[in-house]
Amino acid sequence: MIGGGYVGLVSAACFAEFGNQVAVVETHPGRLAALRKGEIPIYEPGLDRLVAENIKADRLSFGDDIAHAVEGAEAIFLAVGTPPRNGDGHADLTYVFAAAEQVARAMTGYAVIVTKSTVPVGTGRRISEIVSRLRPELDFDMASNPEFLREGSAIGDFMKPDRVVIGTDTDRPGGAARAQEIMRRLYRPLYVIEAPILFTSLESSELIKYAANSFLAMKISFINEMADLCERVGADVHELARGIGLDGRIGRKFLHAGPGYGGSCFPKDTLALMRIAQEAGASSRLVEATVQVNDARKASMGARIMAACGGNVRGKTIAVFGLTFKPETDDMRDAASIPIIHRLVENGAEIRAFDPAGMTAAKPLLPDHNVTYCVDAPDAATGADAILVLTEWNEFRALSPERLRGLMQGRVVIDLRNIYDPAAMDTAGLDYSSIGRPRNPRSNSAATPEAQGV
Ligand code: NAD
Repeated sequence: MIGGGYVGLVSAACFAEFGNQVAVVETHPGRLAALRKGEIPIYEPGLDRLVAENIKADRLSFGDDIAHAVEGAEAIFLAVGTPPRNGDGHADLTYVFAAAEQVARAMTGYAVIVTKSTVPVGTGRRISEIVSRLRPELDFDMASNPEFLREGSAIGDFMKPDRVVIGTDTDRPGGAARAQEIMRRLYRPLYVIEAPILFTSLESSELIKYAANSFLAMKISFINEMADLCERVGADVHELARGIGLDGRIGRKFLHAGPGYGGSCFPKDTLALMRIAQEAGASSRLVEATVQVNDARKASMGARIMAACGGNVRGKTIAVFGLTFKPETDDMRDAASIPIIHRLVENGAEIRAFDPAGMTAAKPLLPDHNVTYCVDAPDAATGADAILVLTEWNEFRALSPERLRGLMQGRVVIDLRNIYDPAAMDTAGLDYSSIGRPRNPRSNSAATPEAQGV
């Protein structure tokens, strides 16, 4: 497994749990040092136990020696990052191609090289060319096995996936069958639970990943537009989401309105699909609109918060509940909190922030002045003029409005994740605003985790 980040580490631990022998190659010195000490450098529920058990069982190891790791390997996975390339939205394939070259140089016999990283259509073939150019004599096959896990529930998603997609090079004589056989063996434990395993061409598999993420992002942008409409016409976006989501053709998941999608995947994958489609001469106007709606939404959040604070935040103390792009992760990539907190600090606010897992990753990304990191949410709320909910961690849901009111100096609560019940907040004397719900509450429409569908 080349790359021991969110995807590489989870995949490696799960493949080891399936009974395979897995060697992870990680080049980041800090991550590798932690892994070698048995520490998990990322926050992912259950991963520490799974990694520890598989190290103990001698099925999982970590190192930076690629030659050692690929020796005798039947499958070599590339799980390195594919961030957006500076300026143009294309996926930056520098890490993927560098890893492919290292693998090509190190291989000693037949293996299937598998991209687990999210890569644009055609990347598998380009990797094939790189390997063949460097090692013309080498026998190998190419496969694409995109990963659909969600941070925060990654192990469950890997072990009980909705589907596994495996693309192989159907043009290479015999290659598809050989690669499929190895991949089928790797995923054999999933046959028992009847997880659908879909064999496709390399191109289809590469595109499926981008299409899936773009579709989910489109659902989020759609519900965010509906939330704005609800606010204008006095409807409630929770009632609307339930009303449309119970239609099996639509589905209930990813219909939770909020400050716009972020994270390590949706922003970069929608942009990359846009570029892939434009270059192929088949522009996707729906994905382009999804990106535009999301950018505009994120940009509008600062103004919404300022308005809720009476038009001015200068000298005000704002408690921020949650910094990560979603709960149950420490991942801060493209988190809504980053631009929002910068804007508030620029406008003179003092921030008291708390996040259960993301504060270490957040510190280098947030202003280094006017932000105090707190020990928990009540600590952050103490003496605050306003509370701003940015991530829907479960521990924030449990806080009673009366307790919050008692801790605060002011009364304003701006809930960008709709975790509180407007009626209860109103009763406690709080000046509560949320997304897509009437300010004068009629009913209990606080979000349940299920309603968020994420
Ligand atoms: P990440 O940045 O957490 O991990 C990548 C790791 O690869 C880093 O630790 C880096 O040091 C290491 N690395 C880079 N080059 C290397 C090399 N040559 N040899 C060894 N190690 C190397 O990224 P991630 O979130 O795990 O994402 C990896 C890929 O999976 C991306 O393409 C991403 O789009 C995709 N993906 C991510 C998620 C997610 O939820 N994070 C979900 C599905 C798919």
